[in-house]
Amino acid sequence: MTINSIRTSHIQFKIHQNISGEKPFPLIEKYGINIEKLPIFGNGAIINLQEKIQITERLLEAHELAVANIKAGNITKRGFATNICTNDNRWSIGTNFNNTRNDISSVCGERSAILASYNDALIRFSKSGSNYFNFKIKYICMAQSEDLSMIKNSAVPCEDCLSWLNTTRYFDDNTTIFSFEKNEKGILCLKSAKLTDFLPCKDYKLSSDYNLEKPFKYSSSAINSMEKYAIPEEDILLLLDKNFKLYKENLFSNISNQNITCSIIANKNIYSASKIDWTKRWFVEPLEYAASKAIEQEKENCKITAIAYFGDNSSVNPLTKEEYSDGGISIKSLGRIRQKYANPDTLLILNLENCVNVITIGEYLPKKFIQGYKII
Ligand SMILES: [Zn+2]
Repeated sequence: MTINSIRTSHIQFKIHQNISGEKPFPLIEKYGINIEKLPIFGNGAIINLQEKIQITERLLEAHELAVANIKAGNITKRGFATNICTNDNRWSIGTNFNNTRNDISSVCGERSAILASYNDALIRFSKSGSNYFNFKIKYICMAQSEDLSMIKNSAVPCEDCLSWLNTTRYFDDNTTIFSFEKNEKGILCLKSAKLTDFLPCKDYKLSSDYNLEKPFKYSSSAINSMEKYAIPEEDILLLLDKNFKLYKENLFSNISNQNITCSIIANKNIYSASKIDWTKRWFVEPLEYAASKAIEQEKENCKITAIAYFGDNSSVNPLTKEEYSDGGISIKSLGRIRQKYANPDTLLILNLENCVNVITIGEYLPKKFIQGYKII
């Protein structure tokens, strides 16, 4: 049994047994939070008072870990920590890890906690004698190092984390994110949000098959963007045609068997790239690659106005036959390019099974994220 699971059962024991003289929730008391009056808002899972107490205590625990991370000298000088609760009510905690200035050696608090939770669950599984590993995450409680009195916006997952979270393997439609946020009156609140609110619609299943017979669907935001950027339908057809040719010719994806091609319009020019596999799991992501080509050519004024993306839909777990939508457009890459060279109005042209759906980045990834590490 892990330290966290001992602690969880300890807390539950205290709630039910109500042993007097001890403080099962020291942080709620330390921070002087009136738990019954603590407002809660959002559209996440409905929780009872006992869960509200646990979630608040776990958020405060994460806050203290985030503070400790800064004190320990994390190079971003920003602390984030997350407490994860699995469907069997076990908790695990993790904080942001930043080893260098490069993202290859950085892990956000959420992913750090997911890893801790996964390892804790595996240890329990290995000792259980069971043959069925049922690991699903119920709550993601995200906290920052910022003093509670200074908190304005709740912590939300970045696009790198969302790329991890956008899978049905360990998360489901009930997974809820909790965080602290101040309401308009300046009162500290508990905010709950469904993880799916931050993720692209799961119905956007990409297809590898394309023909001109496919009907086109345009969202109203897409029509506005086509006017704004002066992109006629013919340009979209041209972009798709170019991308499909590349898709059929892409031989670089032969190791992973996952073919992706991406073509973009930047400053009225088309730039394309194919997914290139180095190994089964290491590859060049074509959206970033196509964008890099455009930026190199168009320089600082590079403006990406449309993205066409062809990909393979999903993979299947051979043991459980569960299907995972892991072939979608890269959230991680979208997060990178829209920081500067694209924006929420940029067109996103998705080749789906039954139609070509033309939407915008803002519709696909609706939440605007607050980013900004200052590394000194
Ligand atoms: Zn993140």
